[in-house]
Amino acid sequence: MNDVIKYDIAIIGSGPAGLSAAIYAARGGLKTVVFEKGIMGGQITVTQEVENYPGFHKTLSGFELMDEMKKHADKFNTDYREEEVKGIGLQGLCKVIETNKGMYHAKTLIFATGAHPRKLNVPGEDKFYGKGVSYCATCDGVFYRDKAVAVVGGGDSAVEEAIFLTRFVKKVYLIHRRDKLRAVQIIQERAFNNPKIEIIWDSEVQEVNGDDFVTSITIYNKKLEKRSKVPVDGIFIYAGILPNNEIIESRIELDEAGFVKVNEDMHTNVPGIYAAGDIVSKKLRQVITAAADGAIAAWSAEKWITYHEDDDDTTEFATCEIPQKK
Ligand code: NAP
Repeated sequence: MNDVIKYDIAIIGSGPAGLSAAIYAARGGLKTVVFEKGIMGGQITVTQEVENYPGFHKTLSGFELMDEMKKHADKFNTDYREEEVKGIGLQGLCKVIETNKGMYHAKTLIFATGAHPRKLNVPGEDKFYGKGVSYCATCDGVFYRDKAVAVVGGGDSAVEEAIFLTRFVKKVYLIHRRDKLRAVQIIQERAFNNPKIEIIWDSEVQEVNGDDFVTSITIYNKKLEKRSKVPVDGIFIYAGILPNNEIIESRIELDEAGFVKVNEDMHTNVPGIYAAGDIVSKKLRQVITAAADGAIAAWSAEKWITYHEDDDDTTEFATCEIPQKK
């Protein structure tokens, strides 16, 4: 008995990389599936404003942008499965995908699993999660109307979300561990000019304090070698991202930070397995680079399938039929 569903291309993750890959693959006539275990649309859905995706000059939210991408992929009959991929195996050239609901075979696979926020790993961070500690200003900012909050980090996310929070809160302390922000200049300037934002330089958060909810954070100024308490009702942490690489096949090569190494075709070192978006080892992680990765990966996968289907030595590959174990 073999009722395993077979696909030409299986995409794991439905962020900009995954959906862009789906659009290119399905439009190219490949039988395409997207697996998603969480929220369709990926990390960007919690971004309040996307203002640098070409063609969308009227600012729109990450959720709205992803909704448009999802509709676009739907147009070409992409299969969506809200299932958690538990593991990947290889049988010859075919890929075996095991989810919490079943098994699937695919000729090619694209990892578009993205990344997740880095925690500070300080006392109180876990205890007050949802009670003043947040990793998503878009989700939780509105709860802090007329209150004081801290934002941790100096990258694009921290600075953009600090600016966003000023719509609700009376004060944002932007706490950065150095004396220079990492965010792009235009966003830095907006923060510098925002009267509600106070930047606390050279400082690390050491503890999140509170009773039932957060009441303050303890910070340490490295230059002054001074510890102090900042009274806040909430703390938003934007200390960078870590790769979602738990289910990446063990033979796939990663960089030292755990992101997937690919070549210019987005091909990993394992034949027929690709990666796209934030999970990839690269410098610029943006919606547009994720979307471009997805397009390249799908295009490359299609060429790879055609090449191998024409190869007489691998005839079983044409159907990706994998003999069932007795
Ligand atoms: P990021 O650029 O890696 O910045 C992380 C920030 O957190 C850095 O300022 C870093 O400090 C700080 N940090 C790291 N570990 C820390 C710790 N343990 N304690 C305190 N601070 C810590 O991450 P991101 O801002 O999330 O951005 C991720 C990627 O998405 C970037 O490529 C970014 O350009 C992109 N992005 C783009 C947009 C946009 O274009 N609209 C919006 C958001 C994000 P140091 O600076 O000292 O290393």
